[in-house]
Amino acid sequence: MRILLIGPPGAGKGTQAVRLAAHLSIQHISTGDLFREHIGQGTDLGQNAHTHIHAGLLVPDEVTIGMINERLARPDTERGFLLDGFPRNCVQARALDGILADSDSKLDAVLDLEIPEDQVVGRISGRRLCRQNHEHIFHVDHSPPEVAGVCDLCGGGLYQREDDREATVRQRLEVYRTETAPVVGHYRAQGVATTIPAHGQVQDVLNRALDAIGRGQADAAGTSS
Ligand code: AMP
Repeated sequence: MRILLIGPPGAGKGTQAVRLAAHLSIQHISTGDLFREHIGQGTDLGQNAHTHIHAGLLVPDEVTIGMINERLARPDTERGFLLDGFPRNCVQARALDGILADSDSKLDAVLDLEIPEDQVVGRISGRRLCRQNHEHIFHVDHSPPEVAGVCDLCGGGLYQREDDREATVRQRLEVYRTETAPVVGHYRAQGVATTIPAHGQVQDVLNRALDAIGRGQADAAGTSS
């Protein structure tokens, strides 16, 4: 299965992406995580990306598309993938159309997570990530770790992303409105987009997403590995 997850900052994309990919037994590919890995390793790509991420802006398309092209060419995506955070504008969406056409494949679903803007800042300002594994995500109020500042799953230290500070979040929201929201229309025209209300408990949102994919299809994908 090939799935895209789109949504504004704070919609819970990362949290849902990890769970959906595990349920469907497909690769979770987050462009944000790939950039953070590059930044951590101090690569040229990471240094270039850091300036843009720090400002709450998109990393230039040629860098992002090149990175995702290379990632999707790896054999571990043959059974499918869940893209979390890509595409983020219409140029990237058209590039992905081309990558998929070249491999004679198509998307099964595009999930558009929807959350009222007034909830975004609160959701993001309480978010904490594990230094050892960025897929381990907590929230100081909604899903706090048992010991403050320590990951329940691996004992890693928790930290706040620097682009999760309020001023940067507002810039990221503006970028979402102007550049990313139109991507949903691109996929609506292809008949594959579904909007999912992202409020409420994590499990409820996951259930809505699985319903949108088609539970039978989703369960079959998860058990065929
Ligand atoms: P995320 O972890 O998805 O919230 O992404 C964090 C930041 O990485 C974004 O605010 C952007 O600066 C950058 N980023 C992630 N994905 C993309 C993309 N597809 N295109 C451009 N920049 C991206």
